[in-house]
Amino acid sequence: MKPSGTRTQITNSSAINLLSFLQSRQPEIISTIRDLVLVESPSHDKQAVDKCGKHVADLFQRAGAKVTRHRAEKYGDHVQADFDGGSGSRLMLLGHFDTVWDVGTLKTMPFREEKGRLWGPGVLDMKTGIVQMLYALTALKESGGLPRPVTVLLVTDEEVGSESSRAITERVAKQCAAVFVMEPSFGLHGALKTGRKGVGDYTVKVMGKAAHAGLDFEKGASAILELSRQLLKIEKFTELKKGITVNPGVIRGGTRNNVTAAEASADVDIRITKMAQAAVLEKKFRGLKAVDRRCKVTIQGGLNRPPLERTEAVVKLFTLAKKLGRELNLSLKEAFVGGGSDGNFTAGLGIPTLDGLGAPGEGAHAVHESVMMDQIVPRTALLARLIEEV
Ligand SMILES: [Zn+2]
Repeated sequence: MKPSGTRTQITNSSAINLLSFLQSRQPEIISTIRDLVLVESPSHDKQAVDKCGKHVADLFQRAGAKVTRHRAEKYGDHVQADFDGGSGSRLMLLGHFDTVWDVGTLKTMPFREEKGRLWGPGVLDMKTGIVQMLYALTALKESGGLPRPVTVLLVTDEEVGSESSRAITERVAKQCAAVFVMEPSFGLHGALKTGRKGVGDYTVKVMGKAAHAGLDFEKGASAILELSRQLLKIEKFTELKKGITVNPGVIRGGTRNNVTAAEASADVDIRITKMAQAAVLEKKFRGLKAVDRRCKVTIQGGLNRPPLERTEAVVKLFTLAKKLGRELNLSLKEAFVGGGSDGNFTAGLGIPTLDGLGAPGEGAHAVHESVMMDQIVPRTALLARLIEEV
């Protein structure tokens, strides 16, 4: 599918140069994506992810970066690639190379080129985005050098909450004037992401009192029933108009059907659109009290990714991207999405962040994961132009 709008002659000379360089490298770009997809890298398999990390580190080193590997114990080592550049302020390109796909997925979801798309585990989310970074920087270097220093940070635990990489992401972001996140764009027309919900989770635990359901029924206090009462209260925390959602996704409890349950708990996902909503929800969760006073309710958890709010600084970046997109015959829209990314952390620090700069496709985390081939070069050129003009 082509972006909507009529095609016009491209006139900006930098856009022409970058596009023609990238077009001439298209076969190489595709084979680099293929090689990266072929090194499977599920978040929880450190050995596999480190193998992918070595591959990624080599790519950026060969492109002229100084590569640093940040050791992580439980997850793969995170990869940082620093590029020297002109006198402009430093920029950050952010992404991840872990995927949600286990090693061996390639057997059932092989990498392939079909119907104008590339298919395979992690191709959209977000190995293509990594290769776009690599070639945007290469194209700029080939056409006279980077106008500013650029730090690429590629982490290994984004799909599982970024606990080991968050501090590194935030440290790097603080040294940068803006952050471009190469997560896939939204929908087949490839809207950029100017807002993301904040994400958190709570565990609601109830301690009740076990008793024989036949002999001592009245002596028991069922944690399951109490948890159910709490969940009905929690359901009311959702405020769809404000974009606040609260979802108990997992419950557990009890031991046998003839015993009143001594313990029960629920894991609850929360999503918010504004930072201030986090405190309101926090108060509501911490304020939960047992209806049956013989039970005890305890709460753990909280917000783990702040929302990426559509601030003026974000809009400014999007407006620039839109203008540069027009020069490349891309008609760019913006989208607000419910899912979080590491861009939420950098935006949470107040660093202007534009997300969803990866090529469009569909089926992230699904068997039809795929990326549109004819969009890879223009979106890579867009990133290069943003690095020049921001
Ligand atoms: Zn992703």
